[in-house]
Amino acid sequence: MSPSFTSFADLERVALACTKCPLAATRRQVVFGVGDPHADLLFVGEGPGEQEDLQGEPFVGRAGRLLTSLIEGIGLSRPRVYIANVVKCRPPGNRDPQPIEIESCRPYLEAQLEFIDPRVVVTLGNFATKLLLDTKVGITKLRGREFPFREHGVLIPTLHPAAVLRNGGTALAQARADFVLVKRALAGAGGER
Ligand code: URA
Repeated sequence: MSPSFTSFADLERVALACTKCPLAATRRQVVFGVGDPHADLLFVGEGPGEQEDLQGEPFVGRAGRLLTSLIEGIGLSRPRVYIANVVKCRPPGNRDPQPIEIESCRPYLEAQLEFIDPRVVVTLGNFATKLLLDTKVGITKLRGREFPFREHGVLIPTLHPAAVLRNGGTALAQARADFVLVKRALAGAGGER
């Protein structure tokens, strides 16, 4: 249980009103996260884009449609997983999130991880992977492998769906292979916590 928030609903309420970093001034709304707060599988992306900022939900644009199809490709659906981002507010013009923004937002992601307590965390792209694995190694070297994560979880880095859309072919095959690993990790994670 996170010491800073009394419940998941409390966490969401606080995050939705956040003004801790400069992104608060330019966002339309906070994009907290979506899905089942008791999910075994948690995805962590980078930050909302334009569509997400408009709709208040992560991964609803083009990259989101690809993520949804990869999720469905392993027999799951969006409502059965949880989808969050490193930063909860859109960086203007879809620029990279800045270190101060990532650090300001980190307590919300950490609390999401604590409350949801997923068995499998999938980091989408460099920002989430570097943050949660505390590494400077890039995603192309780390993707498709399984790392122990905190007390009883595993973390699987994969390519960001936007990068898959940009690069096509091989990248899409790699993402699909990573999702097969995710499915296997979930199947093997049925035991006691
Ligand atoms: N890209 C992200 O990293 N997150 C979103 O929510 C949408 C696009």
